[in-house]
Amino acid sequence: MTPLLLVLAAFIFLAGGLPSRGLFSPEKSMSSSPSSSTDRKPAYSKSGHNIVPLTTAEREVLAAKLTPEAFQITQKEGTERPFCGTLLDNKKNGTYMCVVCGLPLFASQHKFDSGTGWPSFFSPYDDDHITRTVDRSHGMTRTEISCARCDAHLGHVFPDGPPPSGERHCLNSAALTFVEEGDPIPEASRPVKTETAYFAAGCFWGVEHWFQQGDGVISAESGYMQGRTKNPTYKDVCYSDTGHAEAVKVVFDPARISYAQLVEAFFKMHDPTQVDRQGPDIGSQYRSGIYAATEAQKTFAQSYIDTLNASGTYQRPIATEVESAKVFYPAEDYHQDYIEKTGRACHVQNPWTDSTSAAR
Ligand SMILES: [Zn+2]
Repeated sequence: MTPLLLVLAAFIFLAGGLPSRGLFSPEKSMSSSPSSSTDRKPAYSKSGHNIVPLTTAEREVLAAKLTPEAFQITQKEGTERPFCGTLLDNKKNGTYMCVVCGLPLFASQHKFDSGTGWPSFFSPYDDDHITRTVDRSHGMTRTEISCARCDAHLGHVFPDGPPPSGERHCLNSAALTFVEEGDPIPEASRPVKTETAYFAAGCFWGVEHWFQQGDGVISAESGYMQGRTKNPTYKDVCYSDTGHAEAVKVVFDPARISYAQLVEAFFKMHDPTQVDRQGPDIGSQYRSGIYAATEAQKTFAQSYIDTLNASGTYQRPIATEVESAKVFYPAEDYHQDYIEKTGRACHVQNPWTDSTSAAR
């Protein structure tokens, strides 16, 4: 065996794994087995509103408070007569909410005069807030639009609107309530109050994927942080020793999932005793880290690690670094939702499998 081969063999032995692409390249390796991701309807919209569908009982409570006209339209698929709706000529700046559940549905900047006699909008407030279904009633084939949260009938959408969408969302005034800009926004119409957490647990593909599955997680995004350069690229991080860790930014709803549950999931996902590597991926960018957004997070993370170290759960000391979060630089688009896009698995474990976790 040549000296080079001896060194290589010793390295493989010390690394504790079989040679793989990750051993020879700072770029990440991956397996090709399919992931266990399932199609889920998002619980939060792009604008950060809770859009978990209401139960029948919840809808009935809200519907009981409606005027007879609003009830007929939203619950019985009614249509108000043209040129009669109270919001047809409304030109004030503000937001149009669902009359039943308060979800923001349309905004004044998207309103236009269609001449049809019904309030018309070329785009919704948020695509995620509107459900479209084929309506074959009255001998016509139309696309019905409903509130994504409470299923209230709102009106229809037609392909004859102005640019940029070319669509005309034709609404019943009675399905909407208007909140003028500057007026107080009702609780049910506000986006959820969120918090942010940052974790590094090796290759960010799988870490992002599993955090995204947490019940109460609004978004998980792959990126780079805690390094020495600004706006690093994947190649910079792999080959230029920039000091960044592959990290995931988790935006969550603290009313539905706690920071403690996220930290617990983080430790279940990966092996926190590995130093500057996770599985086949080797390099300081694959180190384990918790980057605290607040002092409270930092204190919690450190005490959690102290408790874990004292518990004897792990054979070796926990290598996870706890630091105050520096700037998070989002990774390139092709790294986002990588597991969903490719069906490839990654090194991390599903942390949401036991009954005490926040699994959906
Ligand atoms: Zn609604």
